[in-house]
Amino acid sequence: MASLMIRRTRLVPIGPAASPPQHPVDVLVESGIVTTVASYLDPRPGVEEYDADGRWCAPGLWDQHVHFTQWTLASQRLDLAPARSPEQVLAVVAERLAARPGVPVIGWGHRPGGWDRDVTVSELDAVTGETPVVLIAGDAHNAWLNTTALLHLGMPVRDSVVRENEWFAAYPRLVTLAGSDGTSPAAFRRTLDAAAARGIVGMVDFEFGARGQEWAERWSQGCDVLRIRWAAYADTLDEVLEAGLHTGDPLPGCDERITIGPLKIISDGSLNTRTAWCCEPYADAHRLEHPAGQPNLSGQELRDLLARAHAGGLEVATHAIGDAAVAEALAAYATTGAHGSIEHAQVVGRDDVHRMAELGIRASVQPAHLLDDRDITELVWPDRAERCFAFRWMCEDGVELALGSDAPVSPLDPWLAIAAAVHRSDDEREPWHGEQALTPAEALAASVDGQPTVGVGSPGDLVLLDADPLAPHADSAAAGAALRSMRVALTAVGGRVVHDAL
Ligand SMILES: [Zn+2]
Repeated sequence: MASLMIRRTRLVPIGPAASPPQHPVDVLVESGIVTTVASYLDPRPGVEEYDADGRWCAPGLWDQHVHFTQWTLASQRLDLAPARSPEQVLAVVAERLAARPGVPVIGWGHRPGGWDRDVTVSELDAVTGETPVVLIAGDAHNAWLNTTALLHLGMPVRDSVVRENEWFAAYPRLVTLAGSDGTSPAAFRRTLDAAAARGIVGMVDFEFGARGQEWAERWSQGCDVLRIRWAAYADTLDEVLEAGLHTGDPLPGCDERITIGPLKIISDGSLNTRTAWCCEPYADAHRLEHPAGQPNLSGQELRDLLARAHAGGLEVATHAIGDAAVAEALAAYATTGAHGSIEHAQVVGRDDVHRMAELGIRASVQPAHLLDDRDITELVWPDRAERCFAFRWMCEDGVELALGSDAPVSPLDPWLAIAAAVHRSDDEREPWHGEQALTPAEALAASVDGQPTVGVGSPGDLVLLDADPLAPHADSAAAGAALRSMRVALTAVGGRVVHDAL
């Protein structure tokens, strides 16, 4: 842990009761902790000084939901996000294969949820021939594989996409197909540096199939930049419990910046794959095997996992997107006494939010998804759109909100999340259910891992911002645009500068 002094900075108030000094102050961080805040401080021998020149100082930002390896890989994958139809995807793939014949293709980011037909493996085979091709949908809950790739990954041949648990199980084997290029320590380091440049000081890593050991190795290879909470899945739960590790403990072999996070459970599917488990059928239920989606595990299985994690001193992060899944997860928290979060909570009942507040369960939400899911929601959940991304209800009830990106589902950029929560539109259209929007102050407070205004005793996890994030604007569009393009001048973790553009 390091020391530094920031001169002439204005403290951003976090929380409704905060009233930091209006004038610029000097902030001293010693051994990783803020020890003094004053109008002027004498220089300290050996402590590096940074002149903020009036810039705004806030607690460092957290991304509470990241798939770190996938985000690192996504930047190197064939980008399918612009494709608007199966035909467009096939054209992009054909172009890539013509440019690099015989080289396996991992594509990422198409949104089949809005297409008017289901895709087939045969049409993909017709374009790809024998070269393995895996096209991962932008919600990560299904993938369109050609026959060669299905065989290579040991999955039964079929003429449709691979969904949910079958896909999650196959995912870690992708490296056997595409090689592990793109997951070198240098590639991970670039991801961490880019996050630091957006003001991120920490993230919760929900990578599928990852082991804590992988982070420990990376840590010693120059990837000890930010704070990391490493989440275990059910398949590594035994290992974690046997080692006697609790949420908050340092990862073995590392320092206190990287800790054991929660147990992650994926209790239902997603909106785009029509597998999120809802109380009411989807509008296009006639196309679906399960008209209202379905749970990925039974209520008993869910409660057993929560109970085991809780008894072993682990928090739980339960992925629940549909309202039925949210209600079931809350019931499981209530029965077992487990602590933690609902991840996503994309569509909720009003009572579910009351219950979440009562139980002290955190809502870990990804506002940027509302930009991507706006149109598909109006298509398949038109009857419940006003209950989607219900951040205002959560705030009203006192539910602890924690913003994240779910990168690579949306980019690892906290300012995109904050702007989306505030404006709820990223085009010329009016805010989508603007009554559920957050104020900039609320969105920022939900992005700093519960830290108050920077003061004595704060961790030395700080950002310096070129503009006041809480500056008044004419409307939410202007506020959103300013937040979206926020420039971060400096980021420090435990007093150590990890991004310096002062
Ligand atoms: Zn996720």
